[in-house]
Amino acid sequence: MTGDARMTARAHVVGGGLAGLAAALALAEAGRPVTVYESGPACGGRCRSYFDRELGCRIDNGNHLLLSGNRAAMDFLTRVGARGTLGGPSRPLFPFIDRRSGRRWTLRPNAGRLPWWVFVPGRGVPGATLGDYAGLLRLRHADALGTVGGVLPHNALYERLVEPLAVSALNTPAELGSARLMWAVIAETLMQGGARCVPCFPKEGLSESFIDPAVARIRALGGVVRTGHRVSALRLQDGRVAGLAGPEPVDVAAGESVVLALPAAVAAGLLPGLTVPDEHEAIVNLHFRTDAASSEAGPLEAGFVAVVGGTAEWVFTKQGVVSVTISAANRLADRDGAQLAAAAWADVCAALGFVAAMPQYRLIREKRATFAATPAQHQRRPSATTATSNLVLAGDWTDTGLPATIEGAIRSGFAAARQAGRPAPHR
Ligand SMILES: Cc1cc2nc3c(=O)[nH]c(=O)nc-3n(C[C@H](O)[C@H](O)[C@H](O)COP(=O)(O)OP(=O)(O)OC[C@H]3O[C@@H](n4cnc5c(N)ncnc54)[C@H](O)[C@@H]3O)c2cc1C
Repeated sequence: MTGDARMTARAHVVGGGLAGLAAALALAEAGRPVTVYESGPACGGRCRSYFDRELGCRIDNGNHLLLSGNRAAMDFLTRVGARGTLGGPSRPLFPFIDRRSGRRWTLRPNAGRLPWWVFVPGRGVPGATLGDYAGLLRLRHADALGTVGGVLPHNALYERLVEPLAVSALNTPAELGSARLMWAVIAETLMQGGARCVPCFPKEGLSESFIDPAVARIRALGGVVRTGHRVSALRLQDGRVAGLAGPEPVDVAAGESVVLALPAAVAAGLLPGLTVPDEHEAIVNLHFRTDAASSEAGPLEAGFVAVVGGTAEWVFTKQGVVSVTISAANRLADRDGAQLAAAAWADVCAALGFVAAMPQYRLIREKRATFAATPAQHQRRPSATTATSNLVLAGDWTDTGLPATIEGAIRSGFAAARQAGRPAPHR
């Protein structure tokens, strides 16, 4: 088949999370007929919003924080016409509170690449020296088995910035998290200057920013998005995918390609012999229904606070809802929900500077929120290409070089679309 013919053959995208939608978007933009098969009632996977009847409002499955340096995510949002749906402060600004001492500080990196902010009192991490900041470069030279906690000295910078950053970016305790993955995050954000570190999050919800506009754009380009369609097996024939089993069988004709954009374990179940990360970390989110407003300047301007030394790690304030994120949460698997909520609510009150009885809340435990970003798990990540000629992989767990994030998922989808557009190798 010629490259031209391949560009008009249908692409079948299995999985309607961010990776699948990014792949489908790029393929549809390139003029390929595309069908997305999503097992859930709506697209979005681990990045979605829904109406919570008990709370009486729409909530996200979990707070998602991006940085302006997440270039694939920003590109995706621009391409689906949703760049303006992100909110957050207009400059790099990260308010922190240490629950043990009550101390507050706000990280304010300057916009340019020369990091003069580390010299200016009141802009950096309290107690951190220039040598501590320079020490971050050790991550860059870490070997494949290096962990963040093993490579970096445990100083004020570690406790007040690196640890909280590692837990949220890697969703893995800093002691266990891959130093190389941590460096990948820092190299693309902090090392590029404050202009790449402006925090952003959806003004309304994850689905309103990332999912609904993407589905609408794919459909506008002629793509088909089928929800409630679970692909249960791949029909393999002569080294290629010839069909998809599901509610109704789908034939995959010669020249057509398949992008498998599923959670790692599901992909491994469909494709015998595929090695994938097999250890996961949970994320707990608590959504409190409250109109109580913050009395603190930092959270008021940023829309969130990072908490050190508490139960909550990030507290986000939205219209009528205050939400708490606790990452690397396998350690809390046995913790009673009501106790967890009470501890998180105490952190919320301290972080936002108000006193109020705990309101109605929703606790969401995403048990397999991401793969555990340890060096050993990172080594299990496969590349997008497979031995099956017309099959490409996508997903935040594939070898993107980044931890499991929106940025990684979208990059993997774009990369899969490029691969699916290439002529099949001769067999
Ligand atoms: C609580 C939480 C908080 C997070 N916070 C952040 C954050 O702050 N910043 C950040 O950048 N990232 C964050 N992430 C990570 C981010 O959400 C993920 O990296 C991203 O959504 C993964 O997208 P994906 O497409 O790779 O996978 P998925 O979202 O898992 O998509 C896979 C899709 O395949 C579908 N599917 C499964 N089986 C089948 C089948 N047999 N047939 C058809 N379809 C099927 C699923 O329903 C799903 O829609 C967070 C994740 C969670 C869970």
